[in-house]
Amino acid sequence: MAPNDGFDHDILILGGGLVGSSLACALDGSAWRVAQVEASAAQEGAPGFDERKLALALASLNALQALDVLPRLATAPVPIRRIHVSRAGDFGAVRLAAADHGREAFGGVVLARELGQALESRVASASGLVRYRPATVLSVQPHADGPVVELQQAGETRRLRTRLLVAADGTRSMARDAFGIASDEHDYGQTLVICSLATDRAPDGTAYERFTDEGPVALLPMAGGHYGAICGVARADAARVLALGDSDYADYFQRRFGWRAGRVLRAGARSGYPIVRRVAERITAPRCVLMGNAAQTIHPIGAQGFNLGLRDALSLAEVLAGDDPGAPALLAAYAARRREDRERTLAFSDGMARATANGSFPMHVLRSLGLLALGHVPGLADPLVSGAMGFRGQVPALSRGRA
Ligand SMILES: Cc1cc2nc3c(=O)[nH]c(=O)nc-3n(C[C@H](O)[C@H](O)[C@H](O)COP(=O)(O)OP(=O)(O)OC[C@H]3O[C@@H](n4cnc5c(N)ncnc54)[C@H](O)[C@@H]3O)c2cc1C
Repeated sequence: MAPNDGFDHDILILGGGLVGSSLACALDGSAWRVAQVEASAAQEGAPGFDERKLALALASLNALQALDVLPRLATAPVPIRRIHVSRAGDFGAVRLAAADHGREAFGGVVLARELGQALESRVASASGLVRYRPATVLSVQPHADGPVVELQQAGETRRLRTRLLVAADGTRSMARDAFGIASDEHDYGQTLVICSLATDRAPDGTAYERFTDEGPVALLPMAGGHYGAICGVARADAARVLALGDSDYADYFQRRFGWRAGRVLRAGARSGYPIVRRVAERITAPRCVLMGNAAQTIHPIGAQGFNLGLRDALSLAEVLAGDDPGAPALLAAYAARRREDRERTLAFSDGMARATANGSFPMHVLRSLGLLALGHVPGLADPLVSGAMGFRGQVPALSRGRA
């Protein structure tokens, strides 16, 4: 940490998306010399700061409150008080109420764009953080005594040496590849179509998730009497569905989702996201850690991606200690801290995505029974509930909230 030690920074965060920016907030006030590189300009916002609706677990809300991010949101999170999970054609449904588990809400829904703006406002106030933005990392060279990052900013190229490189540079992470960390890819063959939507019944705090043979469909309660609507469509059919006019899309959504949230009145502008899972085989390399989408990009169906990435960031901030942030023992501690949460969350979201897309008869019956049992046998839903609230594995201190 001494100046003139040959390092430009102690910790260089590559990526200013939701996860890299969360880490920058969590490290504010530490003694580390922290820097962040982000390709997009601050006034445009990072590419992930778009119209997607994010269901944030209670643990994430607790942490974002403690980090002084939530108070900066333009619209307060809309509480998820109940979760309703069903499958078209099956007779079971899971109905979970946060009140039955001693909580007011499982979490809340925010707009990614607004969360990005709140993070940006918080990061801008961080003391001592060096920001390279807009700046593009051209190459990453691993070195046992400190990786070197070459970046381009305002037409100039510079080389930065850091004790620890944090790869928060998303699904196609350049840093992950540079460190030779292999990743496993699975294309679900689905595109998620998202939009805002109004029905003749205002949201009452229920989040709906419905599985159909064509893909998952979900409604999240939003502010202003709207829902955030998510609809999985086979990739081959995606262009047709995205081209539907507003009222044709409202009819299409109604057919896919059914009537449990009332009659669909209006659908807003649609965007499509092709869904591919990409999981790094390990999350550390000498003087490098991966987090967020760079470590694992998962199906959005279980609303776990950012929640998991935030726990990556909080966990790293907690294990960093001593005078060398890239010390092997610290990286081993980070990998160990993340193992259980990562494995369980990946298994949960991938299992949900694959099992519910399988329309074969035995699965169908098992699912019905499983869903019924979850809904009616006390205690069986507990792992699901603690996962939905984000309390999985070793819970970061900031996520625990006030006692
Ligand atoms: C439709 C949809 C719905 C979702 N819903 C939920 C939900 O309800 N709940 C939830 O928890 N998660 C959800 N997610 C997942 C969540 O959006 C992601 O997990 C999260 O945004 C990942 O953030 P990140 O910072 O890791 O990656 P990214 O957002 O990809 O950020 C990476 C950043 O790195 C920068 N970068 C990359 N390469 C370079 C370079 N060479 N030089 C400089 N900068 C670079 C990029 O510009 C980018 O800003 C959803 C995702 C989708 C697609």
